[in-house]
Amino acid sequence: MLRWNGWGDKSVDFPLLPGAREMLREFLGEGKPGSDYPLEKLIDRVPRSRISPHPLISTDPKERIVHAHGQSLPDWIALRGGTLQRFPDGVALPNTLGDLQELLTFAEKNKLVVIPYGGGTSVVGHLDVPEGKRPVLSLSLRHLNRLIDLDSYNLLATFEAGIRGPDLEAQLRAKEFTLGHFPQSFEYSSLGGWIVTRACGQESTHYGRMDELFAGGEILTPKGPMSVPPFPASAAGPDLRHILLGSEGRLGVLTRATVKISLLPERHDIYGVFFPSWKSAVEAVRMLATARLPFSMIRLSNQTETRTNLALAGHSWQLSLLKRYLRLRKIPEEEACMCLIGLIGQRRIVNAARREATFIINRNDGIFVGKAMGEAWKKNRFRTPYLRNTLWDIGYAVDTVETAVTWDKVTAAMQSIEKAFVNGLAPWNEKVHAFTHLSSVYTTGSSVYTTFVFRLAETPDETLTRWQTLKKAASLAIVAAGGTITHQHGIGIDHKPYVGYEKGPIGLSTLREICSHIDPDQRMNPTKLV
Ligand SMILES: Cc1cc2nc3c(=O)[nH]c(=O)nc-3n(C[C@H](O)[C@H](O)[C@H](O)COP(=O)(O)OP(=O)(O)OC[C@H]3O[C@@H](n4cnc5c(N)ncnc54)[C@H](O)[C@@H]3O)c2cc1C
Repeated sequence: MLRWNGWGDKSVDFPLLPGAREMLREFLGEGKPGSDYPLEKLIDRVPRSRISPHPLISTDPKERIVHAHGQSLPDWIALRGGTLQRFPDGVALPNTLGDLQELLTFAEKNKLVVIPYGGGTSVVGHLDVPEGKRPVLSLSLRHLNRLIDLDSYNLLATFEAGIRGPDLEAQLRAKEFTLGHFPQSFEYSSLGGWIVTRACGQESTHYGRMDELFAGGEILTPKGPMSVPPFPASAAGPDLRHILLGSEGRLGVLTRATVKISLLPERHDIYGVFFPSWKSAVEAVRMLATARLPFSMIRLSNQTETRTNLALAGHSWQLSLLKRYLRLRKIPEEEACMCLIGLIGQRRIVNAARREATFIINRNDGIFVGKAMGEAWKKNRFRTPYLRNTLWDIGYAVDTVETAVTWDKVTAAMQSIEKAFVNGLAPWNEKVHAFTHLSSVYTTGSSVYTTFVFRLAETPDETLTRWQTLKKAASLAIVAAGGTITHQHGIGIDHKPYVGYEKGPIGLSTLREICSHIDPDQRMNPTKLV
């Protein structure tokens, strides 16, 4: 059963090892657990629905609460603190394309706002209910989850857009294929959500981001259906796939999508590597990225993230063994940067790539520590988000910011983002624990992904104010460092103030014009994106 005010299944936990708790206490002080607002009280606060009855629309208050938010930190603060203010007036779960069409016609006739809902894992406010007089319908695609066609000759598969990660992969794996898209939210996020937020998975270095995996699809827009055929390539003017990618529900409901699939790899080995300094590590990773070897992933943690990860993952005897080995190999403990490097594909090619990668790693003073860390990472890759529940319960909030910059800007961007966090709560005399990794690497640059942890305040409003202060400081640092405001999470509401910096006035007005051309009544997920 799903947690109504946290992440994931109730039966799954990610307990904190004593060393990690001690580390947090040392960095931030003892956490201050807040009291959790009870569901029954929140149900009492859900106002009467403004939608006239319809057989496909539920007005059940609990459904309306569940669909009133995503998984951003402001969403969490509002849920846990009982300050959630706005709820959709109804929730519809169409079973067929016919149901969906009928619901959109009903929405048009009754002047409803429609918010498409995939898996509800947005972390930037995509699903937040706008203020206004028009009733709001949350349109969940959960039941539109069928495999329509698996074309093993052309390596294309077409699914209904509401299908979630595990179902999609299971159906492909049964025929020895994979999509290869594994965001950390894989267990709950949906194909449609991945496409319209331009998601990036943990193995995107090999398989490509959703931008590349999305071959074509169908969308029901307020102006009617629109279809984008899955050509292998085309020079017929601007590519309309790119209007759907990143559209965040503003242009209509993506109903089905054709994606590029791959044969399951013969081998996927993930190696742990340690570098003696950030400088040598970044140079090695840049050289690896430009070598175009068959990497599934390259994930480089900075010193603080390395220490934090080791405290989270390791029992003390394992840690001391590792530290002894690092000392032996002349890697200073305080400076050590851990890197996970995945090689994927046919055995012969993986073996050759490993030789080439070893050469680059050795040249930059890195050392291999075997595959155990990679195996542990693989095992826990979808469990880590459960830490958000654990940390909250002991009085800490955790969130992330992410950007992408060219190689020459990586270190400066990381430093100024972390600085924005570390100094961000000085007016409250509170500390922030911030640490960073590079995960999606490209020949031209890398994503920079920073996690920050801070103590909950006395009240939800105060915690929100602190988060707003930190988010603003970090976002301005990203802009100043020459990065995009988001490498993978999308715009939603939280990144809206910063989009103009990278799109410019003409770019922004073009996006606005596209939205108002397709949706002149601003019916589809208004207030998001632009
Ligand atoms: C713990 C955690 C880990 C995460 N890890 C990653 C990660 O590794 N990589 C990454 O890229 N993101 C990650 N995210 C962010 C999030 O999972 C992605 O943005 C994801 O793509 C959202 O998919 P969803 O199905 O949950 O969409 P939702 O959250 O339901 O919706 C997101 C937006 O898409 C629109 N939408 C959804 N489906 C449709 C549709 N069929 N048609 C039209 N519009 C639609 C909604 O209206 C909304 O605007 C993570 C989030 C969490 C909470």
